[in-house]
Amino acid sequence: MAKQKKFIFVTGGVLSSIGKGIAAASVGMLLEQRGVRVTMVKMDPYLNVDPGTMSPFQHGEVFVLDDGAETDLDLGHYSRFVHNANFTRKNSFTTGRIYDTVIRRERAGGYLGKTVQVIPHITDEIKRHILDATQDADLAIVEIGGTVGDIESLPFLEAIRQMKVEYGSENVLFVHLTLVPYIAAAAELKTKPTQHSVKELREIGIQPDILLCRTDRRLTQEVKEKIGLFCNLPASQVFTAIDVKSIYEVPLDLHEEKLDEKIVEKLNIWTPEPNLSKWKAMVGRITDPKGTIKIGIVGKYNDWRDSYKSLSEALTHGGVANDVKVEMLYIDAEKVENGDLSELKAIDGVLVPGGFGERGIEGKMKAIEYARTEGVPFFGICLGMQLAAIEYARNVCGIKEANSAEFKPEGKSNVIDLMESQKGVKDLGGTMRLGAYPCNILSKHNGKPTRAYQAYGSEKISERHRHRFEFSNRFRKEIEEKGLLVSGAFKDSKTGIELVEMVEIPSHPWFLGCQFHPEFLSRPLSPHPLFSAFIKASKEASQQAQRPLPGMKSEKANANPSAKKMAAGVKKAVLNAKKSSRQDALL
Ligand code: GLN
Repeated sequence: MAKQKKFIFVTGGVLSSIGKGIAAASVGMLLEQRGVRVTMVKMDPYLNVDPGTMSPFQHGEVFVLDDGAETDLDLGHYSRFVHNANFTRKNSFTTGRIYDTVIRRERAGGYLGKTVQVIPHITDEIKRHILDATQDADLAIVEIGGTVGDIESLPFLEAIRQMKVEYGSENVLFVHLTLVPYIAAAAELKTKPTQHSVKELREIGIQPDILLCRTDRRLTQEVKEKIGLFCNLPASQVFTAIDVKSIYEVPLDLHEEKLDEKIVEKLNIWTPEPNLSKWKAMVGRITDPKGTIKIGIVGKYNDWRDSYKSLSEALTHGGVANDVKVEMLYIDAEKVENGDLSELKAIDGVLVPGGFGERGIEGKMKAIEYARTEGVPFFGICLGMQLAAIEYARNVCGIKEANSAEFKPEGKSNVIDLMESQKGVKDLGGTMRLGAYPCNILSKHNGKPTRAYQAYGSEKISERHRHRFEFSNRFRKEIEEKGLLVSGAFKDSKTGIELVEMVEIPSHPWFLGCQFHPEFLSRPLSPHPLFSAFIKASKEASQQAQRPLPGMKSEKANANPSAKKMAAGVKKAVLNAKKSSRQDALL
């Protein structure tokens, strides 16, 4: 008989943003490290068919998978914590997708005259989607988006309630993440919000098996017992989910609490202890780094934390690879556009990430020009690469009107133009160039390895995409002749058209743009090569800038104002030297 599949359903209570995705991903990581074949699923209770059309400002970043699915940002967490699961569009679905499927089937006459209802038709469809997503795994961890008590999530909760009855208690576990706040005035941890949240769950027939209590201090045995009493479960099934410095510490802490041991006991799975040594070493490099570098991310979103989740994680991973902490400074592109370069001057590397729309683009280009002419390491991703090409066309090639068709559809000098495959596309949802495509890397230029090749060490790579516009082949020759090297390209065998995937300036300390999104493939245990290389270059730039004068100790340089001035002079000299050698190379 086939092994019985097991399910863990993760719900959240009290309020959002208390880390349900990370908690679910941490459980996945611990069980994978115990040798269980794990997969993960996210069910989101909104009506958009997928998050692809939603503003990242509203709902956080859109995480793209190899198959081109535009998914919830939690899929990013799952991908960074669980390594062997192959996530596809099946692993992230929404109420919109469920209703779309049911309504299409109804229109096709698939319900044979029945009245189509939330129970059982919508709940059956949810269960079908869960099973479809979890085929290859022994254990599926399914996270329900939103907070218990929301009207929207009720059909999902009803579906998982039914699954516990159908599959049995030994095969289905309900994990509930809740908040236990410390109230300073009473000098006490308060359990009432948790009690209320569990009461809501029990009213709809779900008794949590495990409570993860997010808190800023460890729960005492007494508090656990009180929660257990009011929430109808043994205190041994109540766990502290304490605030930690790095998200990658969460699974280690939950393991200390023996959460994974309790889960395998409840699900009756026999597994060895997890091997966490590599993970611990990685966390050690994050929490105890050897130095700090500053990366400026030039963008337009006010709240960029969730909009650029994978990006900031990939930068952290690049820091792990180079044993430095990467401090990320958000630089408002509109401020730069208005001429304020002060923040740019305080950083070791400039990153212009992906984006859509015209707002802030001139500021981003000013930042790129600054990095290019000052010899500051620059990394442009998707829109960032497109703007680097436009900036180069305008300021080095003299194509003054250079622009993108995204911002100037009728422009005569659209160095960035609509892709052939996008012409005539009307619907916005799911229609960009999405997902994994191969890219060929140029290994050498003028006898020297390209930056792209130096990073990857390979001539064939595959990366994930999400864009409509591309580097126009009309301008490629002219721009390449002036020194912007195309170091990565993809030749579409169907159309014979070659798409530019990577550009770089060979004479610059590190200036590289890519049309794809490398951040989606970076993992804490295997940092992405481009992020590692960018952070390495930025670290070198920072060290050059800080190198004390001969015979001078760096502490003194910091303590003594005139020495500080001299050190600043050295930095300027280094940058000027770089600038002139670069200009020599370009002219
Ligand atoms: N807006 C640009 C395009 O659609 C860039 C997209 C992106 O940065 N993801 O091509």
